Amino acid sequence: MGSIARRPLMVANWKMHGTFFEAMQWVQALSYQLDPADYDRVDVGVAPSFTSLRSVQTVIQMDDLPIHIVAQNVHWANKGAYTGEVSARMLAKLAVSYVIVGHSERRRDFGEDDRMVNRKARAALSEGVTPIVAVGETLEQREGGRAEQTVGRQVSGSLARMPSDQVGRLVVAYEPVWAIGTGRHARPAVAQEMISYIRSRIRSKHGDAADQVRIIYGGSINPGNVAALMAKRDIDGGLIGGASLDPGTLAACVRYWT
Ligand code: PEP
Repeated sequence: MGSIARRPLMVANWKMHGTFFEAMQWVQALSYQLDPADYDRVDVGVAPSFTSLRSVQTVIQMDDLPIHIVAQNVHWANKGAYTGEVSARMLAKLAVSYVIVGHSERRRDFGEDDRMVNRKARAALSEGVTPIVAVGETLEQREGGRAEQTVGRQVSGSLARMPSDQVGRLVVAYEPVWAIGTGRHARPAVAQEMISYIRSRIRSKHGDAADQVRIIYGGSINPGNVAALMAKRDIDGGLIGGASLDPGTLAACVRYWT
């Protein structure tokens, strides 16, 4: 086991919520609640919809906020006849630092599979945008004893053909599907077990890169459960959906140690 300290990452996933104006207000309200010392301890990111990225970037730049801009999706090609899609280059030019790929809502509703997730992740990396690769099992898979098998397959497929130095730089989000938006978070011991499994899986292929890759947890995080989850040794941060829509609640999650 290595001893590299990984910087925690807390990301608000606003999904399809908020107009550009509301997203600007949320970023500002979040920044009022956080102190400079908070940003020293944790990387903070917000993932608004595509229509809000430019406005959020403007607020962040004008107020000089150390908040990372995160996109919720990206296409694998860098340009072309892909109506309705957005490329990694377009995101990079908007100062987007991270992009979520393979969220379970996209896997479920838009047929995103590991091969597509892998192509998206590699496209993001090629433009200097860090992918947040989301993986997680359904309740049926967990109850059938197939949680590790499912997540292991997603990790291998999504990180295929990536050199180890790139793997070390990306983020994996373990988000059990049964915990997303249900109010039923994974018990910290369960999240730790799965995230440790993901890390060991990465270690078997990429060696020490497993000590650098940040693996975060997502699924019904709230201010009441965040500290216990973040206390686990392999959990490097959180992806926060519903609770992130209120800036005060989001700030309380970001400051999980207080
Ligand atoms: C998510 O969708 O990434 C998520 C974690 O949502 P929630 O916090 O609402 O479960």
